[in-house]
Amino acid sequence: MEQRDGLYIVRHFIDNAFVDALEGGTFETLNPATNRPIGIVADGTAADVDRAVRAARRAFDEGPWPRLPAAERARYLRRIGDLILKRAEEIAYLEVLDVGMPITQAGKGAIPRAAENFYFFAEMATRIIGETYPKDGEFLNYTIRKPVGVAGLITPWNTPFMLETWKVAPCLAAGNTCVLKPAEWSPLSANMLAEIIQEADLPPGVFNVVHGFGERAGAPLVAHPGVQLISFTGETTTGMEIMRNGASTLKRYSMELGGKNAAIVFPDADLEQALDGVIWQAFSLNGERCTSNSRLLLHRVIYEEFLGHLLERVAAIRVGDPFDPQTEVGPLIHPEHWQRVRGYMDVARAEGATIALGGDRPPQLPEGNYFAPTVIVDVRPEMRVAQEEIFGPVLVVLPFETEEEAIRIANGVKYGLAAYIWTRDLVRAHRVAQAMEVGMVWINAPNVRDLRTPFGGAKYSGIGREGGFYSFEFYTEVMTIHVALTPPRIPRLGAGR
Ligand code: NAD
Repeated sequence: MEQRDGLYIVRHFIDNAFVDALEGGTFETLNPATNRPIGIVADGTAADVDRAVRAARRAFDEGPWPRLPAAERARYLRRIGDLILKRAEEIAYLEVLDVGMPITQAGKGAIPRAAENFYFFAEMATRIIGETYPKDGEFLNYTIRKPVGVAGLITPWNTPFMLETWKVAPCLAAGNTCVLKPAEWSPLSANMLAEIIQEADLPPGVFNVVHGFGERAGAPLVAHPGVQLISFTGETTTGMEIMRNGASTLKRYSMELGGKNAAIVFPDADLEQALDGVIWQAFSLNGERCTSNSRLLLHRVIYEEFLGHLLERVAAIRVGDPFDPQTEVGPLIHPEHWQRVRGYMDVARAEGATIALGGDRPPQLPEGNYFAPTVIVDVRPEMRVAQEEIFGPVLVVLPFETEEEAIRIANGVKYGLAAYIWTRDLVRAHRVAQAMEVGMVWINAPNVRDLRTPFGGAKYSGIGREGGFYSFEFYTEVMTIHVALTPPRIPRLGAGR
């Protein structure tokens, strides 16, 4: 990526070219470890969105992409996957610089996963099939799946590269074209994807990026009549706003929204494994993770002992420079987000909860958006810190006495993304799993994804599923074709008596 005076120049990517914002505006992106600028970003407006959508529209209506044999599209996607792996270190570097996630978690997790998204959906591209209904009476009926058109892909700042590829890969595999609107706090790695797609030589207009803020660049994308699909990942309230804005052009939506996920630990669990799993799932990726187990439900019998071990381990988590391979928790994305997370500490205290650990900036890290891994106890289920998504390295702990109570507490929030169950009693594990009002449950495991399976949330955590064939439910249009194999009897209007 081009650099000037040590700053990355982050332009839009439209029709396979990097271009400035039409109105000429820019904004800075900051290094969360220092809050100093690292890039100058094109500040997109409706004019840029329109230009990008027109490019995507042309590529869809007139270009080769939707008309290519699936195996050909698959070859392009595999090439993109190869290029991601080839440039993995560079991408990981930019992601850590822009987002603050620890380098080990970017390099070993998020970036290889991004390549995997392309490999996986390359394979899936050749498996998009329809259904045939055996002849019934005169008719044979069958369905085909066609690409839908132009997709608007709107992504959040947490694990941006991985989440962008999670949308772009199935969208392109199905033959659509797209405009990606990355989050304004983490724009750098989207341009790496653009460079890679340019290098992979995709036809112009198939993949476009417009940078900018939600209201100025995201909203016009949602409202644009040339866009048929919106795949959105972000906050629940933003998702609601997007659905309102897209109503007059009747968009199809996939909504991956917030979470307040519970980990339920029963006394018969492998407690060492459970401790590892809960800590990883609460504090990895700085706790800035939609599937974080941000609520820990502990059976009273093990409450004191488990909490004791938990506090000891969490106190020992290494917070610091995200580029240091020893670092386990890096800085939060932005000073505004730091303030929001910090604000919840006052909320917790005002409601009568106790900050058992953390709760503020670690004293040895005076600059940047560092927040000490935090554990909150004396929490009641109805407290705001047990109800609202904090989206930082903050774990609230609640006791329970019976399985029914655990289920009631776990389900007693507006969100329904994920749940984690720790027990050796597999009958109970399945019973509790099925009672969860969520989209995904992991039993005796942290969040380990299998790309073949559907991903998404219930209740206020989302609408629809992506992953495996579910992605094509969203990214393809089903068309039914009815063919008369013998002349059907047609009532004869206007043929006289
Ligand atoms: P956000 O909702 O603030 O922003 C997400 C994106 O939406 C950004 O690109 C933003 O510019 C854009 N946007 C904002 N207002 C818009 C508008 N009116 N119209 C169109 N676009 C608009 O979310 P965030 O703070 O970037 O991300 C954190 C949230 O994302 C958390 O709630 C987290 O749980 C959620 N998340 C969910 C999943 C999931 O798969 N369910 C995954 C990751 C993150």
